[in-house]
Amino acid sequence: MDKDYYDLLGVDRNASQEEIKKAYRRLARKLHPDVNPDGAEKFKAISEAYAVLSDPQKRAQYDRFGTTDPTAFDFSGGFPDIFEIFNAAFSDTPFGADFSAPRQGQSLRYELTISLEEVLHGGSREIEYQRIRLCQRCGGTGAEPGTTLRTCPTCRGSGRIRHTQHTFLGTMSTISTCPTCHGRGEVLTEPCQQCRGRGLERAVEKTTVDIPRGIEDGQELVIRGMGHEAGPGARPGDLHVRFHVAEHDTFVRQGADLIFHLQISFPQAALGDIVTVPSLDGEVELQIPAGSETGDELRLPGRGLPRLRSNRRGDLRVILRVATPKRLTRRQKELLLELAREEGKQIHPQDGNFFQRMRDAFGGG
Ligand SMILES: [Zn+2]
Ligand SMILES: [Zn+2]
Repeated sequence: MDKDYYDLLGVDRNASQEEIKKAYRRLARKLHPDVNPDGAEKFKAISEAYAVLSDPQKRAQYDRFGTTDPTAFDFSGGFPDIFEIFNAAFSDTPFGADFSAPRQGQSLRYELTISLEEVLHGGSREIEYQRIRLCQRCGGTGAEPGTTLRTCPTCRGSGRIRHTQHTFLGTMSTISTCPTCHGRGEVLTEPCQQCRGRGLERAVEKTTVDIPRGIEDGQELVIRGMGHEAGPGARPGDLHVRFHVAEHDTFVRQGADLIFHLQISFPQAALGDIVTVPSLDGEVELQIPAGSETGDELRLPGRGLPRLRSNRRGDLRVILRVATPKRLTRRQKELLLELAREEGKQIHPQDGNFFQRMRDAFGGG
């Protein structure tokens, strides 16, 4: 059948969603097989047209490509039953949101603490967590192995029950999931001893998590399908792994950069020096320029962390702090006083005993 969907519903190409729905309802009332035994083919055609045109995304796709092949549209889980389309149009629930929607397992979150070294090198970790999965004994059917399922007596195997109502519009059918078999169409003769017929069990699951290089604290990795299962044929939930980067003894992380606080002496600050500092790659050489001050920042490019999905690394930023010497020897004190004199500054040292003796020795007072 290769008829234009708009023609089938008798609407304009610019018709609003409301107009499309009205047109479909009007036609469906006339063509529903319960009302019109000869209308089956036409009912199927308008229902398919409505399924596509009532969904803005599918409608846009149809407008662009003009295909009437239902398999060309992404109806997850197959093209919907035309009676479900009909029900949806009359129930005012969003299309596909109700009975036909497959059940889905719940997603899980796992909190994983990693080190800065793991952020640098990446790697993998095996994790263990609890999840609900299909019962291993019965494979999720809920039936004791070796026993058979029998056709549900309530729905005779269809999984659905049709309610027929007589209204002023004619005879109308609505369909709901069978309460006896919950839509399965079959019932157990003997429930599985392991899961008591639930088809699910709680189990400790092991999986390997890849640690992406450069991952930041709080970022998540989603492992599809590793959350709870909801039953045979239902999509399992996902496993969300959230990374926590542990504080490091030596470095503070700032994005892709690492910060290291280095204490230097006054002579080093004044004269400059070449020292070694720690990095995640081992000790590296650092040149301290003469005349450095507290708070000065020196960069070692590429000694930081990798950026996510990039090979470029941030920097190691070394922040200097000039330490003031405290417990001085007699010789150190003499040299500092000498330095002060050389700078032409009169200073008034507060280390009483020592300087009193100095003044006595130099004959001052
Ligand atoms: Zn079982
Ligand atoms: Zn049933």
